[in-house]
Amino acid sequence: MAKKDYAIKTTFWGVRGSIPTPGKDFIKYGGNTPCVEVRCGNTILLFDAGTGIRGFADSLRKEFGQSPPDLHILISHTHWDHIQGFPFFEYAYMKGVRINLYGGNTTSDIEKLILDQMRREYFPVTLFELSSDLRFRTLEDNPFHIQDIEIYYTHLIHPAMSLGFRVEYRGKVFVYATDNEILCEPEMQGYNERNIGYLIRNADILVAECQYTETEYRGKIGWGHSSIDQVIKISNAYGVKNLFCFHHDPRRTDKEIDRMMRHGEKIAKPPLKVFGAKEKMTFCV
Ligand SMILES: [Zn+2]
Ligand SMILES: [Zn+2]
Repeated sequence: MAKKDYAIKTTFWGVRGSIPTPGKDFIKYGGNTPCVEVRCGNTILLFDAGTGIRGFADSLRKEFGQSPPDLHILISHTHWDHIQGFPFFEYAYMKGVRINLYGGNTTSDIEKLILDQMRREYFPVTLFELSSDLRFRTLEDNPFHIQDIEIYYTHLIHPAMSLGFRVEYRGKVFVYATDNEILCEPEMQGYNERNIGYLIRNADILVAECQYTETEYRGKIGWGHSSIDQVIKISNAYGVKNLFCFHHDPRRTDKEIDRMMRHGEKIAKPPLKVFGAKEKMTFCV
């Protein structure tokens, strides 16, 4: 088989923040909540388990049928939009499929949080009834490794704290940083540098939330989300090459996202390129 000429392949399955958004105004970018697949060689990482995970399952079925390789799902945090696809993930119901679920330990560990999500009051099937080989891993070491992939993480600024992940593989860097408020106050710049700046430095791919326009953000300070302007400013400062604007606001129509991306392209400085993340889009580095 020919050797792949890239190290990391990213596929977007869900890009919408907060709540799924069906409708004719949301077709181009898609309405499913966060789920991003990252392939490093033959290893499959999945960032978040929003409703986009169903599209991921469809593609997995076409490629591997009922015998996929081990899956590694990294959960940024357990707000609904980031986990609501998990109970509908068909591979969680298949005997012989190994699923590793990684998460932080803020108020509770990841196993307890998913267990609660699948209590009978909320969903007809409990976690104990899933047939897959499900393994929960509360993150402790930093960085940690999944096979030959090195992953560093940090706590972002968001209610209940979200985790940002930096994946390094064969000299390339992928960063997932969603549900994060980049602080604008001048006295917080040092904090930004140590936190998000350190995480995203020289990233080949940065998937970052750009939920608001700058004007919207001014009315939503403290909500735990960022403006596209702030994300581009910090991406420019830390040598990011490809920014995928993500976690689109549920009210943002396709036309409005197009407009936001044109604005983003204008304020980005080389080598930074700006893209609006959309479902089924792939990108390799
Ligand atoms: Zn979210
Ligand atoms: Zn959140």
